[in-house]
Amino acid sequence: MNVKFVDLPKQYERLFESDRFKNGFMNVVKNCGFVGGRHLENFERSFANLCGVDHTVGVGSGTDALWLALKALDIGPGDEVIVPAYTFVATAFAVTLCGADVKFVDVDPVTYVLTPEILKGAITPHTKAVIPVHLYGQPCDMEGIMEVADNFGLKVVEDCAQAVCATINGKHVGTFGQAGCFSFYPAKNLGGMGQGGAVITNDVNIARFVREMSNCGRKEGSWFEHIHIGLNSRMDSVNAFFMNCILEENLIIEWTHKRINAAQQYHSFLSKLKEIVQLPLMPTNEVVGVFHLFEIKLSDKKTRNGLKKYLEKHGIAAVVHYPLPCHKQPVYRNTTFSGSLVVSEHLADTLLSLPMHPSITLNEVECVCNTIADYLTIL
Ligand SMILES: *Cc1c(COP(=O)(O)O)cnc(C)c1O
Repeated sequence: MNVKFVDLPKQYERLFESDRFKNGFMNVVKNCGFVGGRHLENFERSFANLCGVDHTVGVGSGTDALWLALKALDIGPGDEVIVPAYTFVATAFAVTLCGADVKFVDVDPVTYVLTPEILKGAITPHTKAVIPVHLYGQPCDMEGIMEVADNFGLKVVEDCAQAVCATINGKHVGTFGQAGCFSFYPAKNLGGMGQGGAVITNDVNIARFVREMSNCGRKEGSWFEHIHIGLNSRMDSVNAFFMNCILEENLIIEWTHKRINAAQQYHSFLSKLKEIVQLPLMPTNEVVGVFHLFEIKLSDKKTRNGLKKYLEKHGIAAVVHYPLPCHKQPVYRNTTFSGSLVVSEHLADTLLSLPMHPSITLNEVECVCNTIADYLTIL
């Protein structure tokens, strides 16, 4: 059996066949208004509704969203921004591209994300902001993080690139801090037809700044007046139309349920290996993660790499995200960090991402789990 890591053609089959999508798509194309416009406004409204927030600004990518949010909060040279060492490196790039200093901190060995305690231990007089990352779709303890941040006067930009629809006590991630940033890179839980991202916020000034800054620094409502040194980072209208269809058809809700369902199946099939394989947390009444990726943690690097090869030999795609924590990346080798980053380094050596997408079948999950059990018992 061949088990794919993600399967976008299968995921989009129904949508692509619907008349609503086919007719609507051709209308967008024929109108030739390819950037921004009405479709972007529709998408921004739908996405704000999904998150329960006042403002969404659609932008060109998740990386741009993070950079724009930091700029809106006036982060710049001389400021220190706390970032988990174990994340996709773009989280840190946003800080560096603002001219501020990244300060890498470790993550929790069970949730793989930043905790209020780790944050508190890393704050110095130069610390101006923190970027909690809801990695793999697992929410950080945002109530605890906001308490620490408020006590120390830190700004909070949430990296929600992997966590659309993740909630804490019913509240969407990205709505705890001053701003939340999303990526619509095609393989994310909500993926676009190309690159895309968004900043969400309840602060009208942040929303206006991000809108102006992402639109070549143009003053809102004025095409020829530029009031910031800005980016050209607007969302394409075909992309906005496409993602608005996904939202209006409630597909993102359906897909999220299917991911959580598949995670539950993985848990059942792998429970007999729980002494040797650590599994991600399942949702509780309070904290709902959305399994952008399904990570299993092996005892050591050799076992992890051996299992990956064995799965691939049996037609099962498995991926290592991320083999290097940020502070080990060539560009960040000289960066300062706070305390020990042993957990991040250990996770980079021992985590393995299994196939996870809304269209994965029970049979496929079972096949992946049986193959894992085969490998680990013959070991
Ligand atoms: C994907 C991702 C980003 C960057 O988003 P792009 O749209 O690829 O620029 C940032 N942070 C995390 C955690 C991501 O997964």
